[in-house]
Amino acid sequence: MIYLDNSATTKPCGEAVAAMTAAMTEGWANPSSLYGFGIDAAHALRTARNQVAAALGAEHDRIFFTSCGTEADNWAIFGTARRFGKKNKHIITTAIEHHAILNCMKELEAQGFEVTYLQPDAAGHVTIDALKAALRKDTILVSIMMVNNETGALMPISQMAKLTHKLCPDAVFHTDAVQGFLKIPFSAKTLGADLISVSSHKIHGPKGAGGLYISPRLKSFPPLLFGGGQENGYRSGTEATPAIMGFAAACAAVSATFKDDVMREKTMLDDLIVSLQNLEKLHINGAHDAPHILSLSIAGLPTQNTINILQDNDICVSAGSACAKGHRSHVLEAMGVSPALIDGSFRISISRHTTPQELQTLVRVLEQEVLPRAR
Ligand code: PLP
Repeated sequence: MIYLDNSATTKPCGEAVAAMTAAMTEGWANPSSLYGFGIDAAHALRTARNQVAAALGAEHDRIFFTSCGTEADNWAIFGTARRFGKKNKHIITTAIEHHAILNCMKELEAQGFEVTYLQPDAAGHVTIDALKAALRKDTILVSIMMVNNETGALMPISQMAKLTHKLCPDAVFHTDAVQGFLKIPFSAKTLGADLISVSSHKIHGPKGAGGLYISPRLKSFPPLLFGGGQENGYRSGTEATPAIMGFAAACAAVSATFKDDVMREKTMLDDLIVSLQNLEKLHINGAHDAPHILSLSIAGLPTQNTINILQDNDICVSAGSACAKGHRSHVLEAMGVSPALIDGSFRISISRHTTPQELQTLVRVLEQEVLPRAR
């Protein structure tokens, strides 16, 4: 099988599987227990937090484990809304966010908040100028994704966070970095964002773990879950140690080869684009700045047909966002891509496991089996 859907999820690495197995067969105690077995589990949890913090370039005590990226996004958005209470009610986000953000915004609109959706340009970029024009005295939250999950377009998060803090010193700046973490270089300490969401299963860790970075700039932040006081009181509930250990092991393993992997992925994606540019009827959508994501369209061939033909050739690609099954892409729509191209769009996303030979096979199958079916 040629797996080219790594933005949907990635294959857990051997280190993650080993760490999870150990957490289930050996170190399975409750980290809150006060005898040696539990204290060892608490120690392993601390080590795991340090590993995730190191990969994120964060202060070790500012990472809070969640169950996934969606949970981190929900916590960031609703937590900020709660933090400001009834005071101010203006929020800024973009029209191209993942539904983990957009559906939170919808809920806040229903509660009386006013949300401004910044529109992207044709390449899928949201500009600093657009943000500058939207910021207001009563803005409480700016939430802008780091890397778009459908097009790979990269947003200037550092400059946007700086601008937000300059013009609205009380506002909170959040970035959904689920597709940026360990794909593009950044450090939480210097990025300038107050809140950063990450997810384990996008970086060769298991499903069931994610994290929210809460910057020391935010001296307090509303807890997500109330209960026994785990995660320093921010997210109660017995820690999901197998998933967290797997997440941390993936962070350590992927960080160790990050620079080389990203360079290799970028070269592979650039070579793929050169090959695809020779193919008639095939369009590339947007900027593909990130090293791992490419959005393509074939006019005159519905997405599902392309996916089926590729699947018949043992190639897995996605219709866009894996979480938006069956809906026309809101991202491509916002970029002004024509309906004909949106209806024929699909996404290729590669990883450290992808080989140039696999991408050559993809090009051959597209050329020989897929494109001849386009009307
Ligand atoms: N944000 C972005 C940009 C994503 O691509 C995804 C998943 O595809 C999520 C959030 C949700 O992450 P999770 O699947 O860990 O809930």
